[in-house]
Amino acid sequence: MQTHILGYPRIGSKRELKKACEQYWSGKISGTALEEAGKQIRFQNWKTQQEQGIDLIPVNDFSFYDQVLDMSLTVGAIPERYAALVKNKEISPLDLYFAMARGYQKEGLDITAMEMTKWFDTNYHYLVPEFTVDQSFSNHSSKVVEEFKEAKELGIKAKPVLIGPVTYLWLGKEKTNGFEKIDLIHKLLPVYLEILKELVENGVDWVQFDEPILGLDLNSKEKEAFLMVYKTIRETFPKLKTLLATYFEGLNDNTALALSLPVCALHLDLVRNSEQLDEVLGQIPDNLSISLGLVDGRNIWKNDFEKSLKIIKKASHTLGREKIMIAPSCSLLHVPYDLELESQEDTLLPEIKRWMAFAKQKLKEVTLLQKLSLPNPEKNQLLEYEANKAAIADRKNSGLIHNKAVKQRVEAIAPSDDKRKSEYASRSILQKNFLQLPLLPTTTIGSFPQTGEVRKWRSQYKKGVIDKHTYQNLLIEATESLIRKQEKIGLDVLVHGEYERNDMVEYFGEQLAGFTFSQYGWVQSYGSRCVKPPIIFGDISRPEPITVSWSTYAQSLTKRRVKGMLTGPVTILQWSFVRNDQDRATTCKQIALAIREEVKDLENAGINIIQIDEPAIREGLPLRKSAWENYLNWATQAFRLSSSGVSDATQIHTHMCYSEFNDIMPSIAAMDADVITIECSRSQMELLDVFADFKYPNEIGPGVYDIHSPRVPSQKEMVQLIKKAQDVIPTAKLWVNPDCGLKTRKWEETEKALILMVEAARELREIARVSSDLT
Ligand code: GLN
Ligand code: ZN
Repeated sequence: MQTHILGYPRIGSKRELKKACEQYWSGKISGTALEEAGKQIRFQNWKTQQEQGIDLIPVNDFSFYDQVLDMSLTVGAIPERYAALVKNKEISPLDLYFAMARGYQKEGLDITAMEMTKWFDTNYHYLVPEFTVDQSFSNHSSKVVEEFKEAKELGIKAKPVLIGPVTYLWLGKEKTNGFEKIDLIHKLLPVYLEILKELVENGVDWVQFDEPILGLDLNSKEKEAFLMVYKTIRETFPKLKTLLATYFEGLNDNTALALSLPVCALHLDLVRNSEQLDEVLGQIPDNLSISLGLVDGRNIWKNDFEKSLKIIKKASHTLGREKIMIAPSCSLLHVPYDLELESQEDTLLPEIKRWMAFAKQKLKEVTLLQKLSLPNPEKNQLLEYEANKAAIADRKNSGLIHNKAVKQRVEAIAPSDDKRKSEYASRSILQKNFLQLPLLPTTTIGSFPQTGEVRKWRSQYKKGVIDKHTYQNLLIEATESLIRKQEKIGLDVLVHGEYERNDMVEYFGEQLAGFTFSQYGWVQSYGSRCVKPPIIFGDISRPEPITVSWSTYAQSLTKRRVKGMLTGPVTILQWSFVRNDQDRATTCKQIALAIREEVKDLENAGINIIQIDEPAIREGLPLRKSAWENYLNWATQAFRLSSSGVSDATQIHTHMCYSEFNDIMPSIAAMDADVITIECSRSQMELLDVFADFKYPNEIGPGVYDIHSPRVPSQKEMVQLIKKAQDVIPTAKLWVNPDCGLKTRKWEETEKALILMVEAARELREIARVSSDLT
């Protein structure tokens, strides 16, 4: 029975790679220094795994930016627009690599980066391979072979990891017409065979092929490709040990297909889907080993040894111990490095820390499980087992987690609680009369430039350099000055600016009961960017109002309406580590009830427009379509629960960014927000067609300028975009606003753009007035 892992985090336990990359990009260190930093991280990762007793250690899981981009370079899938860089001998392979990741603006060249998108249902983003009708592949980079040799020299028993060819094609995008990407498999496979040949020549034992798409709905061509690929690999390298890794979902309908592939071992994610094991064991062919993905690679809780050992026992009973491998459910890329680094007891309570395991601790869990499954474990291992049982039992019964009042409130949710008192049509009349806003009202999405100054105050406050009172006063001044600025700009619905928030989820988590935080719990999001998700450990409640004082203060300063600003329950859930002892839907309901109280308090305090941001609603969609309906039901219900406690005249807004709404339009409508603001300008309002075709009943604020770029659009451009919107949506239902929050922008460009935006709205109001006078 061997232990292995599918991959390890690579940003460095103290984000060393992030720092090195950013220094390299800004010209502060050389390419050699960056290479050296990467090497140190690889060595450290391998050493840690070796020390913890992992038998097969992955290589090529390291990456300077992204493992999918690495694969694109490995197989020579370099888009045409980088040809000039490939030919230029002055440009190092590292610079070509970063040009593909981040774009290239130098020496009169302006080459865009490759597109980025989410890695399945994680918060990791990969660079999308680009394919054309005449696509060719070549054995371009020897990264995997080099890393294998590097590990071998250090005496590491290394298992190279490759994204499997079928998944690799699936991840890409067809950039021209006239072909289907899956048909490229015949061109791609020979390159994989060349790479495998080099690995074999260098004495490789095991190779891991990541094929997570075996957990998705596949078409017949994709299925055929799987058969062809793994048959060819087997025939070409009959002695090579191949491990096929699936994760993030169960095999379900693809079970028979996966079991028919001539590989040596099949990895199953038993955290996401434990039921698949019985099905697999029931039909397993001779000679196939199973890798049991038991330790959660997506969450930070300790493994329940007793439960895992039962599974190991069952599998060993059917297969025999030699044909079993023990592993985490997926790559550990999605969890932070090391719980031992957490020393601050006031942030992470020791009681809660006892229930947790980060990547390094998970390595130990994997090896302990292997040892504990032996007939006669050693005494110290048995002691560890007892400690694990105690921690699991302690967590189950802990008073920190369970809050009777919260559970009762969830139980007592009535069917009417997630419905507004009247339909949108009647609400809208009341709101129009009450709010007295002009046609095409102008507003923003909530945050305004968080300048270096604001961030400095926060870090000084956190370090204790300035006290709470001073910090609050600085924020109050910033808020007041923002209200004045917005009045001057001429916006109709103002915001307080969110200066008090570091992050839209962390800020709410910090003030809700049931959340805790780590100090070093960083997880790579893309490239050098990391996030530190809050940790939901218990029942969630709101001890006291969170935003009311900010909103009412801002409102007290002006006669114009100030919009309250909250983060929605689905987004808070989605961007946190969640409990695994309760389903997501229930946790989401608890958050929704807490936000509902906040919404009501805002209303009682005289705030009559309240925005509840839900940028993450779409990314929560399950990987398999069959599970969508259930998710969308509870997610939209949670939003409505949070927003429906108010009177009809109070206007609820929501905001979403990076959203493809095509296949979830009925659910967007089911959220029943009075106004939705969305990102639209980059697609030139194309997104709005979906709303128009669906006859979306409520009001819409399609973003009229792209806040992701410092560019200030002209008034004419914005007028044209609004006109485009007016072509498909009645003017009475339209709002005018930017695409998203302005937090990352500079004041200079923000002010200019908003003044022009307000002018654009005025111009169109005038046109509408004249034309209504005429009719
Ligand atoms: N209200 C938030 C802001 O303006 C919304 C951020 C988001 O959509 N991600 O910053
Ligand atoms: Zn946004």
